[in-house]
Amino acid sequence: MSAGQVLNEGKSKKMITTDDPEVLIQYFKDDATAFNGVKKGIIGSKGKVNCAISARIFQWLETEGVKTHYRGLQSEIEMLVDRVEIIPLEVVFRNVAAGSLAKRFGIEEGTELDSPLQEFFLKDDDLGDPLLTRNHVLAFGWADDETMDHLIAEGRKVHDLLTEFWKGLGIKLVDHKLEFGRRADGTIVLADEITPDGCRLWEIGTDRKMDKDRFRRSLGKVEETYAEVADLVAKALPLDAQV
Ligand code: UDP
Repeated sequence: MSAGQVLNEGKSKKMITTDDPEVLIQYFKDDATAFNGVKKGIIGSKGKVNCAISARIFQWLETEGVKTHYRGLQSEIEMLVDRVEIIPLEVVFRNVAAGSLAKRFGIEEGTELDSPLQEFFLKDDDLGDPLLTRNHVLAFGWADDETMDHLIAEGRKVHDLLTEFWKGLGIKLVDHKLEFGRRADGTIVLADEITPDGCRLWEIGTDRKMDKDRFRRSLGKVEETYAEVADLVAKALPLDAQV
């Protein structure tokens, strides 16, 4: 599909128009940021690796009955996706306390939660993505009750599928962030990306970090670990032939 104009450029991806008004190119950059853009860097081959991981996972989720924005690959670093209006909520699911949750409640990182925890954050970098309750979302009109119920139910389905998927690769899904969007026909679909940028992935048995915390916390072996995750995903989930 031929590329048009850059519609929107974010920290790690850009969205580009195509000749089909309902389809966009999601371009994966090597740029990495952390702490709300305060720490910046490049993770070599991240665009390629994250595009491949996301494509394989979206394609598999579709076979499990999850509607996603994924339509196929345009290149190694470009994915074709439905044009959607992103719902401005980060839907986070957690199995283990880490990151902002551990900090907020003074809980040791690595503490297993009794049951999966779902949280909403407002997608707004200028405000530092604040934590939201359902009441905030309703009061400000960011989403209605029905939409929230759908995000929670569909998010939980994706969370359960992904928890089992990563477990099968010897990886514990500690937490992850999902984003959803609305297609022109109103259908809500899973959007954005599923990659080590938006998940915490710990090797089972050793708790070795295999995600963006290697960059955030300057733990070294960032590129190698992203590539390792991509290899594991590629072995587990073949990519359909692209037309
Ligand atoms: N996350 C993300 N984008 C954000 C904030 C969080 O992808 O803007 C992911 C993060 O990688 C982790 C999960 O959501 O897997 C929970 O993040 P947390 O709230 O602990 O925040 P952080 O540690 O990033 O401050």
